[in-house]
Amino acid sequence: MTIAIHHVRLIDGTGTVHERATVLVRGSKISAVGPSRTLTIPKGARRVNGRGLTILPGLIDCHVHLCLGGEADVVGTLESEHPSLTLLKSASHAKATLDAGFTTVRDVGARDHSIFALQQAIDSGLLPGPRIVGAGLAICMIGGHARFIGQEVEGTEQVRQAVREQIAAGAGVIKVIASGGVLTPNTSPDTAQMTMEELSAAVDAARQAERKVAAHAHGASGMRNAILAGVRSIEHATLLDEDAGTLMKRYGVYMVPTLSALATTAACRPSCGIPESALEKAKAMTKRHKNSFKSAHQGGISIAMGTDAGTPFNHHGENAQELERMVALGMTPMEAIVASTAAAARLIGIHDSVGTLTRGKEADLVVLQGNPLQRIDVLRDRDKILGVMRGGRFVCGPLSLA
Ligand SMILES: [Zn+2]
Repeated sequence: MTIAIHHVRLIDGTGTVHERATVLVRGSKISAVGPSRTLTIPKGARRVNGRGLTILPGLIDCHVHLCLGGEADVVGTLESEHPSLTLLKSASHAKATLDAGFTTVRDVGARDHSIFALQQAIDSGLLPGPRIVGAGLAICMIGGHARFIGQEVEGTEQVRQAVREQIAAGAGVIKVIASGGVLTPNTSPDTAQMTMEELSAAVDAARQAERKVAAHAHGASGMRNAILAGVRSIEHATLLDEDAGTLMKRYGVYMVPTLSALATTAACRPSCGIPESALEKAKAMTKRHKNSFKSAHQGGISIAMGTDAGTPFNHHGENAQELERMVALGMTPMEAIVASTAAAARLIGIHDSVGTLTRGKEADLVVLQGNPLQRIDVLRDRDKILGVMRGGRFVCGPLSLA
């Protein structure tokens, strides 16, 4: 059966808006897009009157951790809970993400390979959730940041082995840790981690399997190492300097800002339960993080949206808060939407199938009441999300009940 959404405001993901458009969905794909006055709706189609509504591509979050639950002490929680409980929680987080209009996520660090079992369960229709492109375990140095969701390695041979193990388990992307972090005690965000040789070995082993590498880096020295090693994206890019910014632009490396991660942590009071060391680090870096984002945006560095959902008080299902933060720091609402659709799909390497609403693409889309180009925060208002479609089926919102 064909589904026809007609007379709708269409934000197609490329940066263009079309008023009074019609979108036809047949099977799992978009079969036609065009002006409502000329595009014929086939007989027997299910019609959705789009007047007053906006349709946009299913949103893409390029940086989540489905295994983390947004608790104040995520490291302590993972250490004390059974892996099976973590997996059940991950499934619930996946559903919350889909309900929020996010039809694809890149999961850049999980406690174990059960993330790939969740991915299979979702792809087969057993459980509701977004498409997952997962990294499995993040690859870090011995004693390095993110080891609670990572595999610790020493030397290039172990790096290659760890990369291949993630790919063999189902990884669609490889995550490396190129600097210290906020949540791991006794690591400094400003200090580089893993050597140039190790990072290069990771990129090389990933390339052999046609996978891209995402590098966690707060400090500029870690960013530089990762960029020169050939990674595809810098996650956080908190303390960006001019040199690292120039390199990112020259090599077309994406910034995935994760503004929500530092902001939600830094907004907490000392008694909130976040370990003191993490709170101090986040508070010290927030302002510089905002400046890094602004200079990257003004300097024309490619930006793809990511929240780091799962970190303290940065909850799954609240992912659209990141668009509000990006707009508050100078992006237009349209730029924030492109960063969360077409640009995100390009970063992940799935732009041939998702990220834009054009003929032949997978029918992943969101139907909203109101206009996010005027008020970006409608994306976070659940009452305004009338339907989330994944692969041609409305999977949540009132339109899924019809
Ligand atoms: Zn992260």
